[in-house]
Amino acid sequence: MEMVIDGTWQAATEGETFAVLNPRDGSVVDHVPLAGPQDADRAIRAAETAMAGWRVTPMTERVAVQKACAQAMRDRAGEVGALLHAELGRPLMGCVGEILRSADLLDIYAEEGLRLVAEMPLGSAPGERIIVTRDPVGVVVAITPFNYPVTLLMFKLGAALIAGCAVVAKPSEDTPLSTLKLAEVFHDAGLPKGLFNVVTGKRALGEALVAHKIPRKIAFTGSVPAGKAIAAAAAGTMKRLTLELGGHSAAIVCADADIDKAAAAIARHGFANTGQFCYRVNRVYVERPVYDAFLRNLSDRASALTLAPAGGDGDLGPLVNEKILAVSERQVADARARGGRILTGGARPMGPGFAGGHYFPPTVVAETTPEMLLMREETFGPVIGVQPVDSAAEALRLANGSEFGLAGFVFTHDLGRGLALCEGLEAGSVWLNDIQRSSHHVPFGGVKQSGLGREKGRYGVEAYLEYKTMYLSWEVPA
Ligand code: NAP
Repeated sequence: MEMVIDGTWQAATEGETFAVLNPRDGSVVDHVPLAGPQDADRAIRAAETAMAGWRVTPMTERVAVQKACAQAMRDRAGEVGALLHAELGRPLMGCVGEILRSADLLDIYAEEGLRLVAEMPLGSAPGERIIVTRDPVGVVVAITPFNYPVTLLMFKLGAALIAGCAVVAKPSEDTPLSTLKLAEVFHDAGLPKGLFNVVTGKRALGEALVAHKIPRKIAFTGSVPAGKAIAAAAAGTMKRLTLELGGHSAAIVCADADIDKAAAAIARHGFANTGQFCYRVNRVYVERPVYDAFLRNLSDRASALTLAPAGGDGDLGPLVNEKILAVSERQVADARARGGRILTGGARPMGPGFAGGHYFPPTVVAETTPEMLLMREETFGPVIGVQPVDSAAEALRLANGSEFGLAGFVFTHDLGRGLALCEGLEAGSVWLNDIQRSSHHVPFGGVKQSGLGREKGRYGVEAYLEYKTMYLSWEVPA
């Protein structure tokens, strides 16, 4: 595939390309342009030109266009989902589901557009008024990771478009195809050219986009180190930032919890997308009276999950590349060396269907300690560490003893204790007694080093608007 700049398919200026690989067997899915700084400039200038017309397009028209794009995503979810399946390796149904769910977010953002209003404080003198209005922030660079490439782009694109901005998107080098196809879907649905540009490339491209003088905002989802590098580079031109960064989220299981329900929720959420999930459960602190029962339940659930081999079906796909897989392997080896007990999983599967891919099985490590890498650093793979604790207070202290603050989870029948623990957790979102996917109409984001700002709902749209205060004076007729 080529890139989408100004509504047309384009090659890189230098004509170079790179291969997108299928993580199930290493085969080449397609080639995409290896874009550089000149291509970044071309896309940004196209966005700037397109935005001049879009920012003055009436909101009702913007809403209609955005809703048409959402419907087109639903209509063509199979087409986009198939590409996502090929480049990411996740089972096809989950990929199609990602497209459908992302379309819903686009609709929600569109509806938020209709609720945007300016304010006029009361009490001005005759012949004077102050209007506090909102302007679109400017051209937006959206940089996204590989794990949910469509959803995480939609967090940004839907909010930016409805606010009146134009976007240059740079998907992960591992998963650019679904994003490119999405640009085609949006243009076919009637999105004016230049508002949604997609450039493909590697680190140098991302850096050129961040350093460019024209964009006013970087919306980034990815790792903490990359987020810090982007924040530092963006400071040079004082660009606005939304940063959704890594997580290392903890679950607390109290002695009075429904153990079956807790284990089910933690297994579902900890192993979803083979653990490549920013707010997944990475570590669990369990009160001693229910520790063994919880471990048995979680371990049974983990070992019942199947890996989907190349060309076959199963619950979980491979990891996206060897670098991501190596983190799980390293953390499990470290835990084992420090006395952790591997209850299930722990080693790469071999044999037909697995040998050519980046597979790692759902793994539960018991008797973990705070020193283990698994309990300190983000895994971004299908490994969960479980540690016994003497009290909920100890669990809370351990849960908060982290530089991350994306999410937290509490399981207890005692509502008062549950609320106290939820309030005590240093995290952008917390769940009590079950774990649902984050909702589209409420804020999502992290505290501490997990990020800056919030996405989704009206909170997400506001991140693409700047306040403007207008002082108006006129002669009052006698
Ligand atoms: P990553 O290595 O940080 O890369 C994310 C994106 O940033 C990619 O498009 C990457 O390009 C680009 N990039 C990296 N360094 C850059 C730089 N200095 N300047 C400009 N662009 C740069 O992350 P990943 O491995 O794809 O994804 C996993 C990480 O994302 C995890 O830490 C996970 O927790 C986090 N994540 C967070 C959330 C959230 O909402 N908080 C959601 C999902 C994932 P290349 O691919 O070309 O290197």
